[in-house]
Amino acid sequence: MTVDDGIGTLEIELAELAQGLTEPGPGECLQCFTNRMLVEFGCDCSLRWARRWREVRAPRAYRLLERLGRRGAYCDCEIFLNGWDVTVEPVVDPVTGESRWPAEVDGCRGVRTGSTLPCSLWTERRR
Ligand SMILES: [Zn+2]
Ligand SMILES: [Zn+2]
Repeated sequence: MTVDDGIGTLEIELAELAQGLTEPGPGECLQCFTNRMLVEFGCDCSLRWARRWREVRAPRAYRLLERLGRRGAYCDCEIFLNGWDVTVEPVVDPVTGESRWPAEVDGCRGVRTGSTLPCSLWTERRR
């Protein structure tokens, strides 16, 4: 094995790792996946994570992005700004007074394979 071979293998492993990181987990709902990706990678002003979720978890949900648009979600962060809110109490930071979502929002409560409904952590925002 040469040094070059070693680097090639490392690159492949990194690519596989990145793939694994941006893969929705089994039973992970659209909202939990998108939220997890936004925390990690941010929003690029498109529905790239919603689209990614659909590719892997619900490839036949052709109208999914259209339905998100009808709820005011034209990019991933708008899914949460306009579409859905958490059903758990936010945690208020005693120092800064800022409220944020509690740690349990990191773990999806699970949905049926192919279902485009959010798990019980999420509720539609009233408009
Ligand atoms: Zn956005
Ligand atoms: Zn979920």
